[in-house]
Amino acid sequence: MVAGDQSDPVDVLIIGGGPGGYVAALRAAQLGRSVTLVERKRVGGLCLNEGCIPSKQLARFAAVFASVKAFAGEGMPALAGPPDMAAFQKARAAAVNTLVGGVESLLKSAKVTVVSGEARFVGRTRVCVQTGEDAVRFFDFKDVVLATGGDPIPWAGAPFDGERVVEASRALEWDRVPESLLVVGGDYIAVELAVAYARLGARVAMAAPGERMLPAFDTDLSAAAQRGATQAGVDVRVNAQSESPDGYERVVISLGREPRLTALDLGAAGIRAPFSPDAQMRIDRHVFAIGDVTAGVPLAHRAMMQGRVAGDVLGGKNSAFDSRAMPQVVFAEPEIATVGAGEGHVARFPLAALGRAIIEAKATAGFAKLVFDGEGGPLIGAHLAGPRATDLIAEMALAIEMGATAEDLALTVHAHPTFAEAALEAAEVALGRPIHVRPKPVAR
Ligand code: FAD
Repeated sequence: MVAGDQSDPVDVLIIGGGPGGYVAALRAAQLGRSVTLVERKRVGGLCLNEGCIPSKQLARFAAVFASVKAFAGEGMPALAGPPDMAAFQKARAAAVNTLVGGVESLLKSAKVTVVSGEARFVGRTRVCVQTGEDAVRFFDFKDVVLATGGDPIPWAGAPFDGERVVEASRALEWDRVPESLLVVGGDYIAVELAVAYARLGARVAMAAPGERMLPAFDTDLSAAAQRGATQAGVDVRVNAQSESPDGYERVVISLGREPRLTALDLGAAGIRAPFSPDAQMRIDRHVFAIGDVTAGVPLAHRAMMQGRVAGDVLGGKNSAFDSRAMPQVVFAEPEIATVGAGEGHVARFPLAALGRAIIEAKATAGFAKLVFDGEGGPLIGAHLAGPRATDLIAEMALAIEMGATAEDLALTVHAHPTFAEAALEAAEVALGRPIHVRPKPVAR
């Protein structure tokens, strides 16, 4: 069959069923559009199948394993042996299947038509979907959403071979902890993998190409992550431009992702890359782009929010994407979380002064660092290191969205004893009247 043969007219066509695409599909369908979603693998995309979910499951598994050892001096019985990774892999697959099944059933009940296959443009308003080895279908759309995600950036030091030298997703599937592992990269995925496998007993070296781990994060957070990774047993090397892959059983590359565009044949539709969509996620009147396929930090919650906005706009709502309060989190040692600006009126509270940190996980090296827009101004940034920082950052993002000041945070009752109290305490530091640390002049 060739372009021009029989084609199905569709209202909204979404290419890619990851967190960007499936959320856009559900929202557009909620608002009355008739939606067709094309996915070449499984809905849920990288995030559910090979990224966020399995990596957090591995991080949690490794953290529990490490904390049993950490509490040995407080009466915790010793572990009977090494981790059973084959059993872990079964649990990982079960969690992924549950979540993918959940998305499939949401799409079904929203009456989104899911087409399995790889899509490419064959005209301005027409795509061809390869639905089988010799089978294709054509669709003519009114509006199209590009949500095809990204591909891992390769490393000059050694090509991916799918076995020994792999991208991060493959490192979540091992049914044995390698004896030695080189992690190439310094982003959050590299840090999480390095710490998890070190906790599980591998000899791990991490080669970060930049001057520090997590180069996009606040410098204090990078330093905390580097200290924590080292304590977890990772041999951290920064400015490591020419590390040799030799001598390691496995090598994982995490150097970021680049938009997956080639297979789409954008030229056939007159669409130009790279994509920098407007606040409504449009790159053209009837063409939207969301998630990792667009310029910006590749994150599932960013993709989902962009999917919501695109779905709203497709449904006739006046919605706009705003990335000012975009959290980023790292599930390592310690947990790291950041949102918003790094510079302004800065107040810092050490977890060493927090009851919860003393009794749990000996987390006293952590801190909460809040950034306000001048003295008395609203919160504009927050940088947290310590247990549950990855959850606590949501309060900070909400506070930024709501324009909350230090006074607002300090007057909000936070349950005791919790890690969340660090926000209240840091706000009191900003106001110059902390109770649990000595008042100090704040940095400006
Ligand atoms: P994707 O999830 O990549 O989905 C794109 C979909 O499009 C895929 O299902 C693909 O099969 C499909 N597709 C591509 N081309 C075509 C085509 N031509 N036709 C049909 N279908 C097509 N993010 C976080 O926010 N938090 C985390 O903790 C986190 N952890 C991660 C851990 C790892 C190891 C990795 C690798 C990533 C992690 N991420 C995390 C990143 C996150 O997974 C991505 O940012 C997110 O999945 C992007 O969503 P998306 O919808 O833009 O693209």
